Amino acid sequence: MMQTPLTIGSMMEHAETFFAKKEVISQTHDKLHRLTYSEIGERTRRLMSALGQLGVQKGDRVGTLAWNHHRHLEIYFAAPGMNAVLHTINIRLSPEHIIYIINHAEDKVLFIDEDVLPLIEKVQSQLTSVKTFIVMTDKEELPESSLTPLYSYENLLQTGDPAQSFATDIDENDPAGMCYTSATTGKPKGVIYSHRGIVLHSYALGLADTAAISESDVSMAVVPQFHVNAWGTPFACTWFGSTQVMPGPRFTPKRLAEFIERFRVTITAGVPTIWLGLLRELEQGDYDTSSLRSVLCGGSAAPKGLIQAFEQKLGVPFAHAYGATETTPLATFSRLKSYQQGLSEDEKLNEQAKQGTLVPGLQMKVVGNTGEVAWNGEEMGELLLRGPWIADAYYKDDRTANAFSDGWYHTGDVVTVDEEGNIQIVDRTKDLIKSGGEWISSVEIENAIMAHDAVFEASVVSMPDPQWQERPIACVVLHEGYADNVGKNELLDFIRPQFAKWWLPDDVLFLDEIPKTSVGKFLKRELREQVKEHLKV
Ligand code: ADP
Repeated sequence: MMQTPLTIGSMMEHAETFFAKKEVISQTHDKLHRLTYSEIGERTRRLMSALGQLGVQKGDRVGTLAWNHHRHLEIYFAAPGMNAVLHTINIRLSPEHIIYIINHAEDKVLFIDEDVLPLIEKVQSQLTSVKTFIVMTDKEELPESSLTPLYSYENLLQTGDPAQSFATDIDENDPAGMCYTSATTGKPKGVIYSHRGIVLHSYALGLADTAAISESDVSMAVVPQFHVNAWGTPFACTWFGSTQVMPGPRFTPKRLAEFIERFRVTITAGVPTIWLGLLRELEQGDYDTSSLRSVLCGGSAAPKGLIQAFEQKLGVPFAHAYGATETTPLATFSRLKSYQQGLSEDEKLNEQAKQGTLVPGLQMKVVGNTGEVAWNGEEMGELLLRGPWIADAYYKDDRTANAFSDGWYHTGDVVTVDEEGNIQIVDRTKDLIKSGGEWISSVEIENAIMAHDAVFEASVVSMPDPQWQERPIACVVLHEGYADNVGKNELLDFIRPQFAKWWLPDDVLFLDEIPKTSVGKFLKRELREQVKEHLKV
């Protein structure tokens, strides 16, 4: 066979050639843009040429601090297309982490959304590698800013050659992208994605038994482009010619619901907290969601109640997937097998709440205290992964040795595997609750509580206990109007039939809000502190 390299530039060339008329619909601060792949391709070429004139060379890191929009998409292809490296930076991290990430990656250029400018202005003096700032604005004038040199994205494009070619001296193993984990503990860890890894991962997103992304889709990635490259969907959607709807800065559930109706969105992707917010909006408003064929959910466990509400109340198919920054991210996908279609609604829901089976192309192993666990849905062990889109190291970081050894990525996720090969995440190693020498899964209790009609969100954390070492405490946010009617005992009675007695939380605290990480996951470290404070009182 021929050894043709798998490269990202050729994905954009494919879109320009075969899907020239298909559109990218993009909301920015000031307006809604509609551009064809022919236009996006030309702008990407101009951008590569302009970046070349600014001195960006092979291997240089091109940082972005931006929401989901078409300019961000163009950088997704321009940076790797010229053999530089796309480095998406999470704008919701603390300034300290943002400084660390930019300096550690040695970003040479930073593309910044207008509303993120003030953040970067404040930390500018601490950035050691950045030579050029580019603001992504719709306005003719450059905004007032202390950043220098500062260019406007659109003016910069004008200086570029619309016929610039994609680099041809690319080895498919060259770095194409880079992301840092959002670091719930310690400093963020950087992962480098190769061209080959991203291209193969894009194929995986197109498989009929995973996300099945295709030309006929209208895809709206709600997951930010700075969260594991919006789970790779912008690459796959461009390559396959899907219409892309990009919800832009500071979107609300209302905007998401309106976009679904207005642009006939067929597939959308995001974390459970986004879907909880959207669900509330859809239940209160009168929206036509009939175009949706899949709501893709990952990043944290999807509670059964959420899956049920989308599928049974709204008639919208809900798909649960699992992955991590280190896995590009798609690793497992939950889908009923053909012979499971006759299961009862409850049995189906149980299956869908699992994280699913391994995506073809990857390998897995689940290792417990005494070796690989039995596939019986009960024995727990750590999930290990390997494959062409699984990282093999952290970028310049001595934590590599812990997470990557013997040719496997050690996920830090404790799972069970059932007879069908479906994995179910029991917990992250650090969130498991150890009571009297036995493990309790915080995730399972959370999901059970969230199935109660009165509950909006629930998170379970461990508290030190003199007798049992650790005990679970549940933190619950109720839907509006339930505060006077639903108390601790009702919730405990509700979940009691599902658990051994010693699994039941010792207490249920009612909160207005559960603290979240920058990508919308429960921030258990902070929640534990809040609970400690609370229990002292
Ligand atoms: P961070 O580690 O900073 O949260 P990632 O987005 O890389 O950043 O998180 C990956 C982790 O998220 C996984 O290792 C796993 O613990 C969790 N995760 C991802 N998808 C799911 C899912 N569907 N169900 C449960 N946990 C998930």
